[in-house]
Amino acid sequence: MTAPAHTAQLMDGTALARKISERTAARAAAFTERTGKAPCLAAVLVGDDPASETYVRMKRNRCAKAGIDSRFVALPAETTTEQLVATLTELSEDPDVHGVLLQHPVPAQIDERAAFEAIAPGKDVDGVTMHSFAAMGFGLPGFASCTPGGIMRLLDAYDVDPTGKRAVVVGRSAILGKPVGMMLLARDATVTYCHSRTVDLPSIIREADILVAAVGRPEFIRGEDIKPGAVVLDAGYNAGNVGDVHFASAAERASLITPVPGGVGPMTIAVLLEQTLDSAEAGLA
Ligand code: NAP
Repeated sequence: MTAPAHTAQLMDGTALARKISERTAARAAAFTERTGKAPCLAAVLVGDDPASETYVRMKRNRCAKAGIDSRFVALPAETTTEQLVATLTELSEDPDVHGVLLQHPVPAQIDERAAFEAIAPGKDVDGVTMHSFAAMGFGLPGFASCTPGGIMRLLDAYDVDPTGKRAVVVGRSAILGKPVGMMLLARDATVTYCHSRTVDLPSIIREADILVAAVGRPEFIRGEDIKPGAVVLDAGYNAGNVGDVHFASAAERASLITPVPGGVGPMTIAVLLEQTLDSAEAGLA
């Protein structure tokens, strides 16, 4: 079977992430030279979920490539909220640690929100605390949630100005759908959120000049529902290496589209490392 023709230009997250990470690596080298110590990101993993282990390994590998130390804390699956809070508090108070990351999801017995809130706002380089979320809402300085931050960087890199555009975000999770909609709103898009209770989703998707798919359902959004010329950002990452958008049919309608893999995914880690350097350098001021 031959691959279907597509007209959309690809938004190359791998290339953009590499460019951002090269800048981060140069900043990390300058920081190390100036302080005698490398910037450091601490990653905490609870339990032995293989997907989470893979994500943490990828993040640590990317840290190593950028000249950032990564400190890895593996806790057993039966860890309590109190134990996890104590670990995250200790890392937050360690002057040699510049960023603290809790890999999620965490096991069911843990109060995930309480755990996130144990991360000091100044070291919340993954942008998961209420402080970071509120700062984004108020337009104040703070760390962005990394995947939404990466999506906005892709739009900027491809000269997509959200001003006045109809943006539709499918998904409303606290780490992805909700913040990316807020970021688009802050950039003067007219934003509609869709979710599992939305009635007649296709009719809303058809109005989108900018479409963000953050659903977690393989190839859920089909090309026939995409407005011709729309910019399509697929944050989904599902089993079988497919996104939330049916790529082949969507690429026949969109003007710009992110592939999966190689679109939004690599941007998440690039933003995480960049924000680790922002935190490290803030400590020098
Ligand atoms: P999530 O917390 O499960 O949220 C999924 C959202 O999709 C929910 O808001 C849900 O609505 C909505 N939804 C589910 N079924 C729907 C339907 N039939 N119609 C419309 N909306 C529907 O997922 P998430 O953490 O935001 O992740 C979403 C996807 O992004 C996943 O594939 C995940 O792997 C991927 N992801 C990628 C990265 C990255 O680095 N690239 C990072 C994070 C997540 P309700 O709120 O009504 O339930």
